[in-house]
Amino acid sequence: MDKKLKYALGAGLGAAAASLPVRAYLHKPESVPAQPLPAENVDLARYRKNLSDAIRIPTIADRDPEKMNWDVFDRFHAFLRERYPLAHEKLELTVIRRGSLLFRWQGKRQDLEPIALLAHQDVVPISEGTLDDWTHPPFDGVDDGEFIWGRGALDMKNHLIAVMESVETLLSEGFRPERDVYICLGHNEEVMCANEENGATAMCLWFADRGIHLDSVIDEGGAILPVNVKGVIDKNLAGIGVAEKGYADVEVSVFAKGGHSSQSPNHTAIGKLAKVVLDIENHQFKAKVSPMMAELFDQIGRNVSYPVKLVTCNLKYMKPLLAKGLSYVPPAASMLRTTTGVTMASGSPQANVLPQKASVIVNFRIFPGQTVDDVLDHLRKVIRNKKVELNLLPGWKNPSEISPTDSRAYHIIEKICRGMDKNTIVAPYLVMGGTDACHYQPVCKNIYRYSPFKVSTALLLTTHGTNERIPVASLEAGVAFFKRYIRAASAE
Ligand SMILES: [Zn+2]
Repeated sequence: MDKKLKYALGAGLGAAAASLPVRAYLHKPESVPAQPLPAENVDLARYRKNLSDAIRIPTIADRDPEKMNWDVFDRFHAFLRERYPLAHEKLELTVIRRGSLLFRWQGKRQDLEPIALLAHQDVVPISEGTLDDWTHPPFDGVDDGEFIWGRGALDMKNHLIAVMESVETLLSEGFRPERDVYICLGHNEEVMCANEENGATAMCLWFADRGIHLDSVIDEGGAILPVNVKGVIDKNLAGIGVAEKGYADVEVSVFAKGGHSSQSPNHTAIGKLAKVVLDIENHQFKAKVSPMMAELFDQIGRNVSYPVKLVTCNLKYMKPLLAKGLSYVPPAASMLRTTTGVTMASGSPQANVLPQKASVIVNFRIFPGQTVDDVLDHLRKVIRNKKVELNLLPGWKNPSEISPTDSRAYHIIEKICRGMDKNTIVAPYLVMGGTDACHYQPVCKNIYRYSPFKVSTALLLTTHGTNERIPVASLEAGVAFFKRYIRAASAE
């Protein structure tokens, strides 16, 4: 290397290194200053009892409206009526598609856009053969003092009952909102994609038909996760879901002549398909640090201690490197790109028969900004065997829009989270699964997915699984959050 160049490079690197501590020093948490909030009146005993009893009503929905067990939903509605008398007396209730409940709490002013709080009443069933693995039966709603156990404890009767508790308590305190407040309780989130049978789609249409545009929507999604790496960071991360990924299953098929397996060619349809699968897996979508993820990393980076901060304060300059590194860690990669999962395979129906058709199903979780069409284009491009047939299966959906992080509603959530616990980092994040919230896009731009419950990652994994349960210690804050949120978000 040229001596001068070497010198210049050395000087440059030296200057950059010297500026690191300065930049790290300046790289401070910039969230809203934590203003401690006054205590909130919460009837914790009532909430615990009502959550337990709500779990005891197994509100499992069916994709086919003809097969819906309406009896359990009728029971659930009667249960809500009995436990939340004030809400049923003071709010206007419209039943939509037989199972969804849309409450309108009329505000003082009709010139302001209303807010909506969403939750779904339905829960997923128990996977076959897993019932015996449960410590307490899934629909007993056992409260052992430490946890409330059962299907829906996290997804999402905890959230639904907390919203109802907050409304009931605010009413008992004589609170009246400025804006209209809607409580929208869907009945088939777990089984239904966007179509007219979907309770959320129907509720959104209800708003659209009346020309109502919502200021903001809050639904399930992010939670408060303890983030603890010894000596580096010890914080709670409140992830506000500002977007959700899209979904597509694509059947990829190769056809062949078939025949008797005793006269097998060198490559059967399955052999040819194997190459196709390799083409697909070897051409993953490119990972990149989107502005939304950059903000998440930035917020976390500001809260770590030295010397890690020397690195995190430079994340801006390291985005491509970071994306490359994280693309090898599946959970992290899923936050940065459209994921590709080859999940099912089929061939001949019998061992001694050559397959006439071999196919795999590839599951894609699509990153916001890309579409289902982009996924199909990508597949056509990377598969070298052009005789392959691609078939997009029903149930697909494009990713959601990305909600802004500078809206009034986002700032309110941020302020309450920080006020409730100054050790909280509030950051936007991407929701991997689907929620009802995206169906409200036609009537709302500010859609946030956030459940105000502090739950460890290990416990969160019990969602839809065995031993779903919520820590009793996290419950009070949930109701307090919604009371504060309704009060602030429904104000002028
Ligand atoms: Zn859910």
